[in-house]
Amino acid sequence: MTKHIFVTGGVCSSLGKGLNCAAIGLLLESRGLKVRLQKLDPYVNVDPGTMNPYEHGEVYVTEDGAETDLDLGHYTRFTNAVVDRDCNITTGGIYRNVLAKERRGDFLGKTVQMIPHVTDEIIAAIHKLDAPDVDVAITEIGGTVGDIEALVFLEAIRQFGQEYRRENVLFIHLTLVPYLRAARELKTKPTQHSVATLREIGIFPDILICRTEKPIGEDHIKKIALFCNVDPECVIEELDAKPNIYRIPVMLHNQGLDTLICRRLGLDTPEADLSEWHRMLSRLENPEANVEVAVVGKYISRQSAYESIYEALQHGGLANRTSVQVRRTEAEEIEADGVEKALAGVDGILVPGGFGTRGVEGKIAAARYARRNGIPYFGICLGMQAAVIEFGRNACGLKNANSTELERGTPHPVISLLEEQRDVDDKGGTMRLGAQPCALAEGSKARLAYGQEVVQERHRHRYEFNNAYREKLADCGMLCTGVHAERNLVEVVEIAEHPWFMGVQFHPEFKSKPTAPHPLFAAFIEAARRRRGNGTEG
Ligand code: GLN
Repeated sequence: MTKHIFVTGGVCSSLGKGLNCAAIGLLLESRGLKVRLQKLDPYVNVDPGTMNPYEHGEVYVTEDGAETDLDLGHYTRFTNAVVDRDCNITTGGIYRNVLAKERRGDFLGKTVQMIPHVTDEIIAAIHKLDAPDVDVAITEIGGTVGDIEALVFLEAIRQFGQEYRRENVLFIHLTLVPYLRAARELKTKPTQHSVATLREIGIFPDILICRTEKPIGEDHIKKIALFCNVDPECVIEELDAKPNIYRIPVMLHNQGLDTLICRRLGLDTPEADLSEWHRMLSRLENPEANVEVAVVGKYISRQSAYESIYEALQHGGLANRTSVQVRRTEAEEIEADGVEKALAGVDGILVPGGFGTRGVEGKIAAARYARRNGIPYFGICLGMQAAVIEFGRNACGLKNANSTELERGTPHPVISLLEEQRDVDDKGGTMRLGAQPCALAEGSKARLAYGQEVVQERHRHRYEFNNAYREKLADCGMLCTGVHAERNLVEVVEIAEHPWFMGVQFHPEFKSKPTAPHPLFAAFIEAARRRRGNGTEG
């Protein structure tokens, strides 16, 4: 029987619920348990795929092609759990199911209500993680306790706890203990209020994880325990872990969180074995070299817009014992101030995915700068398309080459829509999505990096390399080195006469883990390190 942990958040958002769930998942796995993780998001969009990264941050894509919350990226990076479309449920998705049932007449003439029909749908979504081989399912409730939006989800997990026997369900509440500089004091009141709100709706948290910038101290711990009705050992202090999020599991473990959880859930396991994680941390914290890599995007000011990219770059560094400094570069700044000013001195340039015209000429300029100066270039999705456009325009004489997404009437549509996408009107869930096979050419840098002939990588785009230009570009030196063989789609391009220049139509960043860095990120950082070692300046 699968046991369940529910994680709620209080006081304010951005406390790192997703990271904490991922860390708990890792700790349980380190004790030999099998886990799954899930996020319930209380907004009305069916999924975050239609949201702007300013609104929502990165959209994380699963193997089975779901567009999901970026916390699923944390789950993937910390654990070995299967992460798929069952792992992210929104209010919109729940309503869609309920309304479809209502239209089908499944409710047999009943009035359809929030309780029980909507709550039952939520409970069913949570039970989807149950399986004979899954020991623990961890469900994160998005938003902050007290929000109107999250109420129905909280009611559903309350019912869930009621229905299941007590030792099968655990409620963990993540909260903030702020430090008031003027008073030189930590304050426990916001936590007390947040827990009081939870208890009012019938949820009695078993464990509190308290985010804090200063050690909480025994007196405050006792006070929180007393007012929040938990044992002092169930008040876990979580000091800010910036800049290394991979330290969080160790911090929680050192306070006995995994032992506590296992005891409460009646799980008899060996002690946690974190040796692999510690080995990774020691590599991460003791680099032998460092490189600076520019990430050229259009949502640079939003920390989480390129979350998986930033993490995968660190993993690439890990693979090379190299610390990676990221120069976050607004593509529009390149357009305004020139590429030299923005990118001079970097050891590598990465252009990530994106949509629409804003900043795209800056990205194209970045690709050109990398190509001409022999700087390692890694183009991902739109970043690959930008490199193809640039190469078409400046190396093949295809004047005004472009993608039809960016300029409908371009004379040279080197990137264009597939036939199957031409009549698609709905924006949600209709791109080319999820894992697809890619065959790599013998002797290519991609094949060398992967050490494999066929790989599976995840997609999220509508536009594609236009095969009508394949030969022309190859003649000029840009080779297609990875294809979706069955559908004859170009997935990887490389410039052979360049130290390391690669564009991939897929998103490798979603599969990278600190304990298993993605081969392309590892190869990219290796190339950046080589460039830095050569002392060449761009
Ligand atoms: N906008 C491009 C497309 O739809 C690239 C998408 C992306 O970078 N994820 O093809």
